[in-house]
Amino acid sequence: MWSFRAWRRRRLLQRVALPQAQWRELVTSLGLLRGLSAEELRRLQQLVLLFLAEKSVVGVQGLVLSDAMRLRIAVQACLPVLALGLDWYRDVRSVLVYPGGFVARHEYQDADGVVHIERAALSGEALEQGPVILSWEDVAAESAAGVNLVIHEFAHKLDMLNGAANGLPPLHEDMSVQQWSADFSAAYASLVAEVERGGVTVLDAYAAKDPAECFAVLSEAFFAAPALLQDSYPEVYGQLQLFYRQDPVLRLGR
Ligand SMILES: [Zn+2]
Repeated sequence: MWSFRAWRRRRLLQRVALPQAQWRELVTSLGLLRGLSAEELRRLQQLVLLFLAEKSVVGVQGLVLSDAMRLRIAVQACLPVLALGLDWYRDVRSVLVYPGGFVARHEYQDADGVVHIERAALSGEALEQGPVILSWEDVAAESAAGVNLVIHEFAHKLDMLNGAANGLPPLHEDMSVQQWSADFSAAYASLVAEVERGGVTVLDAYAAKDPAECFAVLSEAFFAAPALLQDSYPEVYGQLQLFYRQDPVLRLGR
């Protein structure tokens, strides 16, 4: 079927290219991208070009974003949809980047109809039908094993494609919602138990907050510390492999 968007994308890719020196530097500096084949890197580069052309990535609170900074955000955002395509981010129009952590103000109504205002200090946030918000300080930081803020927030966006984030993104036809729920529930229960025992969790304990955070945190781990995730929760690793259509353990071993 003829699509204006597809035509516009093809035209853009014919005319625009990423600065190659900057691209090579990024590829060698980000451990996440290790083991990607030449073909996968070529595809990733195309996704990044389209991402930057179609979405606005802007600094707020006086932060001026350089091309290298925007590229660094875009490449991490595009890695999870490398085998899925950019349409999976159709609900993302903009990415707002604060210089550091920011305070989010949330309003919610309780069962009695009382409106509460909550303020929380955050390093990132994904709003349903709204922007992805990131703290540059946290994007740039050398973080702990398996932690990746950009992938975390964009995983929430994938989760929100079928309504409020609940740890169940729209699955592919060859996947089973029952199996996904069973595997994630088991991992979630085990994480919650680990946190309640007060022990040190192998993966980020924030995964035990709720099922939506569990999916986002385990997605981070899937890309940023895949062997650790596969050892701890092999069934979840398998589900994420089916969902993202990637096998980071295999490619990092390459
Ligand atoms: Zn989150």
